Amino acid sequence: MTKEEDFVVNEPYKPTKMEQSAIRVLKRKGLVAEDWNSGKKYIQSFKKNLRHDMYNKQNKRCAFCRIHVPLACVPMHREHIVYKDEHPQWMFLPENLCVACPCCNEYKGTTEVLVNPKIKTYPKVGSGFKIIHPLYDKYSDHIELVGGILYRGKTTKGVFTINTCHLYRVGLAEERVDQMMFKENKGNIIAELVRLTALPEQYVDEKDEFLQYVTDIVSKYKQEQTEK
Ligand SMILES: [Zn+2]
Repeated sequence: MTKEEDFVVNEPYKPTKMEQSAIRVLKRKGLVAEDWNSGKKYIQSFKKNLRHDMYNKQNKRCAFCRIHVPLACVPMHREHIVYKDEHPQWMFLPENLCVACPCCNEYKGTTEVLVNPKIKTYPKVGSGFKIIHPLYDKYSDHIELVGGILYRGKTTKGVFTINTCHLYRVGLAEERVDQMMFKENKGNIIAELVRLTALPEQYVDEKDEFLQYVTDIVSKYKQEQTEK
């Protein structure tokens, strides 16, 4: 895992004075989930600035799979770490907001990630969360990348994050291989991939699809070698 992937965000987004006051107005009447889509100018600006700020602080990577997402092609989703419908009081709390890729965001959905769902104060420590928190947890303490390609949980929190965001999806393995192909020796990556096909089922969803992917990439590589 690279240093860029293994980030811990130092500080959350700092809303501007106008944004803070727009949030205060909504809070005063009692927050409900729909307030997130309020058309108010400074709520819109909060959401826009937050995404930009966290995207850069997260090294342009998803909080959960840590894949680099080019903003020009795929808009990163603003992610409420603690789900907003169940806990609307933290909807605009910068500590509860990060950016995630559309896939991780969708799989995570409405999953409860608090160790104690009844807690009244937002826990500003990693131990308060079942999922890896981009502000409080070091990713590599909980998850390792086998062969730089497949995700393996090292702790209960790592396993929870992998299961919740489906980090064993084949598409993620493919993306990691594609990124490595530019930097490393292709032959070594292919050898590693073949070795990974022998790993037990839990490392990758749809093992057949993964095997097919590896078979295809190996034959493509062999063809390239004979053409040389
Ligand atoms: Zn992701």
